[in-house]
Amino acid sequence: MGCFTGPAHTISTTIMHKGLTNKRGILPELKAILKKYRMALSFAAVLVAISGERCLAMSDEVRSMCQQAEQMINSQRFNDAVKLLHRAESLDPSCGEVHGYLGMAFQNNSNTKQAVEEYLKALQLNPQMSFINVNLGTCYMNLNQPQQAVPYFQRYLQDNPNAPDAAQVRGYIKQSGAREGQSGFRALVEHGQSLVSAGKFSEAHSVFEQAVAQQPNFAPAHFYLGYTLAQTGQNQKAIAEFQYCLQLDPSTKEAVLNIGSNYQSLGDTANAITWYEKYLHENPGSPKAGDIRQRISGLRQQAKAPGNSPAAASQDDYLASAASGGRWFRWMRVPIRVCITNGAGTGGYRDSFYKVLMESFSMWAVGSENRLAFTLVNDPSQADILCTWTDNPNQIAEGGRAVEGGLTKLSGQPQQNGDVGITSAKVILLTNLGGAPLSDDDMRKVCLHEVGHALGINGHSSNNSDIMFFTESPTVWPTLTKRDKATICGLYNNYPRASGQ
Ligand SMILES: [Zn+2]
Repeated sequence: MGCFTGPAHTISTTIMHKGLTNKRGILPELKAILKKYRMALSFAAVLVAISGERCLAMSDEVRSMCQQAEQMINSQRFNDAVKLLHRAESLDPSCGEVHGYLGMAFQNNSNTKQAVEEYLKALQLNPQMSFINVNLGTCYMNLNQPQQAVPYFQRYLQDNPNAPDAAQVRGYIKQSGAREGQSGFRALVEHGQSLVSAGKFSEAHSVFEQAVAQQPNFAPAHFYLGYTLAQTGQNQKAIAEFQYCLQLDPSTKEAVLNIGSNYQSLGDTANAITWYEKYLHENPGSPKAGDIRQRISGLRQQAKAPGNSPAAASQDDYLASAASGGRWFRWMRVPIRVCITNGAGTGGYRDSFYKVLMESFSMWAVGSENRLAFTLVNDPSQADILCTWTDNPNQIAEGGRAVEGGLTKLSGQPQQNGDVGITSAKVILLTNLGGAPLSDDDMRKVCLHEVGHALGINGHSSNNSDIMFFTESPTVWPTLTKRDKATICGLYNNYPRASGQ
């Protein structure tokens, strides 16, 4: 804004919008959380070595192959071990030890089901190898079937009540009891996860409320709960959950970012900047660092904008921020002629977008209590407002800053009273957002926002319900609020209202 160029008596100002991105870029962080969460719940495979002394029945050749295979397993060369053991198996098909080693190779290579098969064969061929029961038990633990695991641990303890690892095995039995509850918990969290991925945030929200009630100290559940709260516009509650998640696990950098983003959605620029800076400080090499820095500089600009105060956010309108440099921009002639070009062939464009944009003009006309009216024209040269589509984000970038959603440019002529009469407007709308598909409602938010600028609302609202809010937010609905309507009515207060409409 404030970039006045062109011949004397012609003023053009460029307004970039939606200036601040918010939602995007956070969702991929969920993947990292999922990975972390899986690690937290997964059960370490247990390797019990078969000692040479236990294998007296083996031929020297098979014994040496088994010992070699054991070394391979220890150095993570599982496929080599399996190949070698299959050769040993063909030399001595009735050797239980070979199957025991095969089981261990599979178990440590996360081939749990195959490991179980081999262990069962091993026990059948050589019931003396009681320790195989322990491995069978841990396999069932890894398969999330703790109730199947317990009898194997018990069998081992019966056979070896004084074994040096007896206490450890009793520990496994205890863990499997806890596991039984945990497997239900895991299923619950995974269910919630799939609801988040499907965009069913309200349903996901109640699932994670249950999860947090079941295991209050499981940090990822709080993260997800916060995420679903944010997606349903409950930013303050979301911030509380992300903070709780950070208390439990201070390494959850995604929570720091989300706290910043929720403050941004609330219009609290000072706190948003603080948390984004915390993220940058703790993750200087993050691939998101550039994006976050842009957000911070955008928020700093917004913080300086007129009408950006908590008091302003609760007033009946935000007319004070509609002026640019103290000047009001208004169309001088109504109805305003609008040309919407056909976006066919533009990546991500759908025919429904045309209708969405037309409806956006209608909604502002109604919002202005019919002080404004529009007529559609097909010839771009006859248009006052020309709307075009692009799938290239660079086309709506200005000053090196990637801008999301759209770009509106106004041209006008100064009036005697110091205000500006708008003579033409160009609106460019982005049809895809970082490759992500755009829903009709998302496009409606962008269209309503850009048309608002095209009608002369130069600045932004600091209330996160208004369509002219300075940043995209799940709290913004694809409709005009009372304040949006009051602002356009205020701007065109002296204009006659069309009758009979
Ligand atoms: Zn804007």
